[in-house]
Amino acid sequence: MNMITNHLPTAELQALDAAHHMHPFTDANGLATKGARIITRGKGVWLTDSEGNQIIDGMAGLWCVNIGYGRKELAEVAARQMEELAYYNTFFQTTHVPAIALAAKIAELAPGDLNHVFFAGSGSEANDTNIRLVRRYWDVKGQPERRIIIGRKNGYHGSTMGGGSLGGMAPIHAHGGMIDGIVHIDQPYWWGDGGDMDEDAFGLERAQQLEAKILELGADKVAAFIGEPVQGAGGVIIPPATYWPEIQRICDKYGILLIADEVITGFGRTGNWFGSETFGIKPHIMTIAKGLSSGYQPIGGSIVCDEVAATIAEGGEFFHGYTYSGHPVAAAVALENLRILQEEHVVDHVRDVAHPYLKQRWDALADHPLVGEAKLVGLMGSIALTPDKAKRAKFPGEQGTVGFRCRERCFANNLIMRHVGDRMIIAPPLVITPDEIDILMDRAKTSLDECYAGLKADGLV
Ligand code: PMP
Repeated sequence: MNMITNHLPTAELQALDAAHHMHPFTDANGLATKGARIITRGKGVWLTDSEGNQIIDGMAGLWCVNIGYGRKELAEVAARQMEELAYYNTFFQTTHVPAIALAAKIAELAPGDLNHVFFAGSGSEANDTNIRLVRRYWDVKGQPERRIIIGRKNGYHGSTMGGGSLGGMAPIHAHGGMIDGIVHIDQPYWWGDGGDMDEDAFGLERAQQLEAKILELGADKVAAFIGEPVQGAGGVIIPPATYWPEIQRICDKYGILLIADEVITGFGRTGNWFGSETFGIKPHIMTIAKGLSSGYQPIGGSIVCDEVAATIAEGGEFFHGYTYSGHPVAAAVALENLRILQEEHVVDHVRDVAHPYLKQRWDALADHPLVGEAKLVGLMGSIALTPDKAKRAKFPGEQGTVGFRCRERCFANNLIMRHVGDRMIIAPPLVITPDEIDILMDRAKTSLDECYAGLKADGLV
């Protein structure tokens, strides 16, 4: 076989890819016929593909490349760390400087008394850690029957057995089943599910499902509640303002541990370091990944409050950990990423520059004939596609068909936007400039217009 490099023709690379590479969340048959798009380079908010197209990345990879692509500092830190100490574990009473420094830095950045970090390789792994952490916590407290974790339908917490079970996505549960002791309440999706209700009243009603579920199960059986401050993979569902305060009140009232899954919302995405700050949530545990290293290395973790960490310690050895927990190269790269976020005031840029600028243009999309609502928090936005705005109607037939068509137009216009059902979502790198926002929005508008024209031609609107 020839050496496989960027220099091979696209079709040849695509054929090899289809023959040997099993893709995540992909229909392999569809991919084999069409061929995957091959990304070859990244710089700032821009990607290049094997055909030389310049694509603006409206999704920061998978919501992770917060500082943008191609920062040499991170490559240099990785190379240096590999030479000095490429690997060592953090099991059995050993440690190393990158893990120490990163844990201390995260404790400094995280709000309240979230002062302890258990490292993992990804967000899914970190959520698996959380299942074991909260159950172990209640064991040590002498309440081992408190095992149930309550999540939400259409929440996303990863795709390991644990993460997939915490999440509330039926297609994921359908492939492999669920682990025991996890139940779900409805999501706070007003546009889709709110009917005639006022948005604030709907937020309260959805939060109060938590209380009803706790009473149904018995508070002495419930270990924790988990939620994303803003549901990301579920379609960038920004909850009504009444939602999180009510969830917090209920968790406090029944002594339920509160886990905020900040895998997307952490590290600046919502205009604060953590989404919990934006929404006034006081979690006992935060799940982190993605923006922690801006995706330059696979790393995640659980940030744990003083009381939970002390209880776990009181119980003696916690039989849990990953070979790559606190991997020195990943930790060194994450630390350098946090230095850049902090020294270059990237979170301030999101709050004071990029968000306000994008918001003007994003909100204007609500006037488009295809768009039912346009929502944005920080640099995380969504629009709902609808055949009838006034009725907040869904398209007939399988959900996501129109979203898919719209995404295809975006791809054709060299814009990466993702669709979740018939919602289109964006989460660009946090360093995006107003000029780049203009390019992104011009391409988004063109793509929507083309999608609308196509639907009209097919008699669907
Ligand atoms: N939690 C949330 C909120 C996520 O968005 C994701 C990934 N999209 C995960 C967990 C899982 O992270 P990973 O893919 O790194 O396992």
